[in-house]
Amino acid sequence: MQTKILLDEEEIPRRWYNVLADLPSPMDPPLHPQTQKPVGPGDLSALFPMELIRQEMSPDRFIDIPAEVRDVLTLWRPSPLYRAKRLEQFLKTPAKIYYKWEGVSPAGSHKTNTSVPQAYYNMKAGIERIATETGAGQWGSALAFATMLYDLQCTIYMVRSSYTQKPYRKSMMHVWGAECIPSPSTKTKSGQAMLAKDPDTPGSLGGAISEAVEDAATHSNTNYSLGSVLNHVCLHQTVIGLECREQLQKVDDYPDVVIGCVGGGSNFAGISFPFAGDKMTGKHKEIDIIGVEPASCPSLTKGMYAYDFGDVAGLTPLLKMFTLGHDFIPPSIHAGGLRYHGDSPIVSRLVHDGVMRAVAYHQSEVFDAALTFARTEGIIVAPETSHAVKAAIDQALECRKTGEAKTILFNCSGHGNFDMSAYDAFHAKQLVDYEYPDELIKQSLARLPKIS
Ligand SMILES: *Cc1c(COP(=O)(O)O)cnc(C)c1O
Repeated sequence: MQTKILLDEEEIPRRWYNVLADLPSPMDPPLHPQTQKPVGPGDLSALFPMELIRQEMSPDRFIDIPAEVRDVLTLWRPSPLYRAKRLEQFLKTPAKIYYKWEGVSPAGSHKTNTSVPQAYYNMKAGIERIATETGAGQWGSALAFATMLYDLQCTIYMVRSSYTQKPYRKSMMHVWGAECIPSPSTKTKSGQAMLAKDPDTPGSLGGAISEAVEDAATHSNTNYSLGSVLNHVCLHQTVIGLECREQLQKVDDYPDVVIGCVGGGSNFAGISFPFAGDKMTGKHKEIDIIGVEPASCPSLTKGMYAYDFGDVAGLTPLLKMFTLGHDFIPPSIHAGGLRYHGDSPIVSRLVHDGVMRAVAYHQSEVFDAALTFARTEGIIVAPETSHAVKAAIDQALECRKTGEAKTILFNCSGHGNFDMSAYDAFHAKQLVDYEYPDELIKQSLARLPKIS
C-alpha cells in the first residue's frame, strides 16, 4: 500500500474547472450596493484586472492556466496525496482515509494557488501595486510571495490585534518585500474614521477590507485582491481536486466522502468542485460532500441564504450567500480561524441545493482531532484545517460502527507552524467552547439589506 501518491510535473492541470458550467440553474447575480442592479464588468474594473472579472462571470467549463503561472506552480505542485495509514490503524476503521497536503507551498497553505494567478493577471494589466487585507496573516503572506515574483508592490492591511499578537506572518510578508500596516491605520479615510471612534480598537477583518478597497479605488496604479469567497478564487483552487481525482485514479479509487474546512469556502471549493461536477452530471451520484465550520461562526449551518454585503461598511457588491449578517462579530475567544460572516456564493448555492452539506464543530473537539492527527501522521495542521480533520475522523469512526469500507478524502489546507500559541492554549485548557447564540444570529439577520 502506497503512503504518498504522487504525480509528475507534467500532470499539473492545464485548465481550471469552472463548476458554474454544470449548475442545474444559473446563479443569482451580484448586485450593486447602491442601485441593487446586477453588477457589470465596468463596476468592478476599478478594483480587478479584466481577465479576473471575465473569469468571475465565465460560463466556460474549463479555463486555461497560463504557462507562466503553471511554471510557478511547479515550485510545490503537484502536491502529494497521502493515505493516512497510521490514522486508520489508530482509529481501527475499515475506511480508507486520504488527505491532500497543501501545506507544501512556500506560504504553507492552499492560498498561493490563487495569489500567483491573481498577481500574474494584475502584472499583465500593467498594475504596479496590489492592496489587500489579512486577518491572521495567511492570505497576506501568500500574496506577498506572489507579488514578489512579478515585481509588484504589495500593501497589506493586517488586523491590528493579529499584527501585534502574531508577528511571524508579518515577518514573512517583509521577507517577500511587502508593506504590512496595522489596521485601522491613518492611511485611509475609513481607517481614520475607525480610529476616531475608538483609538484603541483591535481592528476587524471587515474594517481592513474597507481600507484595502479604499486604497485601491483611490489609486489608479493599484488594484485590490481577495483571497477567498469570489468565483475566480474558487476556480483557481480547483487544481487541488483535479489533482486528487488523478491521484486516486492511479490507485484505482474514488471518494465516497469529500471534506474541507470552510472560512470563505475556497479550499473546500478547490477539493470538492470537480467531484461536485461529477455528481451533478450524473457520473458519480452517491458522493457525500461535507463543508466543516466552527460552531462559533456557523454561517452555512445557521445562517440565512440571502443577499448581503461582503464587508462591514457595505462598500462591496451584494452577494447571494449563506450569511450571519455583515455586522456579525465573531467571539474573541475563538482560536480556530474561519471567522468570515458569509461564504462563497457558489458553495452556498450547492449547499442550498443539496449537492453538498455542512457540519459545525466546537474548537476543543477540533484541536483534539488535530492532536490525534499530529500524533499519528506527524503533521501539525493549521487550526482552520483541524475542522476538516475532525470531520474525517468522525466519518471513519462511523465506518467502524457500520463496518463500511468507505473512501474518505479531505483537504489538509495548511500547516500550523505559526499557530503554536493556539495549541498551547488548548493544552492549558484555555480554549472555551462557544456556540454562537441563535438570538444574536436572529438580531444580525434582521439587519440584512432589504432587496427590492
Ligand atoms: C485561509 C485558510 C482557510 C480558510 O479559507 P477558505 O477560503 O475557506 O479556504 C483554511 N485553511 C487554511 C490553512 C487557510 O490559510
